[in-house]
Amino acid sequence: MGFWNFFITFFLNGFYQVQRHREYRQKIISNYQPLNRELYAMHPSTFFVPSFIKAISDNTEESFRSIMSEPSPGVFTFEMLQPQFCNLLLSEVENFEKWVNDAKFRIMRPNTMNKYGAVLDDFGLETMLDKLMDGFVRPISKVFFPEVGGSTLDSHHGFVVEYGKDRDVDLGFHVDDSEVTLNVCLGKQFSGGELFFRGTRCDKHVNTGSQSEEIFDYSHVPGGAVLHRGRHRHGARATTSGHRINLLLWCRSSVFREMKKYQKDFSNWCGECLREKKERQRLSIASAKSELLRKDGESTA
Ligand SMILES: [Zn+2]
Repeated sequence: MGFWNFFITFFLNGFYQVQRHREYRQKIISNYQPLNRELYAMHPSTFFVPSFIKAISDNTEESFRSIMSEPSPGVFTFEMLQPQFCNLLLSEVENFEKWVNDAKFRIMRPNTMNKYGAVLDDFGLETMLDKLMDGFVRPISKVFFPEVGGSTLDSHHGFVVEYGKDRDVDLGFHVDDSEVTLNVCLGKQFSGGELFFRGTRCDKHVNTGSQSEEIFDYSHVPGGAVLHRGRHRHGARATTSGHRINLLLWCRSSVFREMKKYQKDFSNWCGECLREKKERQRLSIASAKSELLRKDGESTA
């Protein structure tokens, strides 16, 4: 196959994939009857707890810090969703899955790792989730994650994952296809399912070891959110009883992805790039010192 044939085939495959996904979404949206219409537009006062709304409207680092903990560098946790909103979203997902089963519709799962769960963007929640990213995730990311495109987040992938008996049990160590990930527990009753974190890494260093200060475990609480860089390596321990359902919003920045192509050093966010950089500096200082001592020795000899 010549270059142009290859190029055109490659381009058309991409085009058809986008086209097919658009048709897939269209087919769902024109057939699926939403259960809770109020979920499909952004209503901050009924979705979020008052402390979260106040912090976002004040829009300062201090206001964000006042409601957030940073139990491990780069991992921010805070109370976010009202119980009533969690229940509405859970019942909507259940209703969607019942429709999928009744209609014998084949759905696409959220990612390659989860066999259970649903893409919220596929059944009408895309606009609401876009508002969630624009109005709530980006202002926080601009302050805490500017080095990974936190201020230029411009697209998202929104989905729920389900863990428990006869669902996915756990999730191996991985990084997300996102710049910033919002992970909120919706319920229900469960034990286990802790998130474990192992430091942020670039593509080149994704499989390197962790430093002790990078090891951190987090237990989910319904309504509680965790915000972290997509490249922050993490996994989920087994949900040992009950059912756990989490909302995930993978936020991406096209500007950051473009710029990343031309960079080699990610020491402003990759723990291993930073460690290597410090080691290079240490060595160059040591060699400068020994050079000075040598010269000093020569001059006094
Ligand atoms: Zn690196």
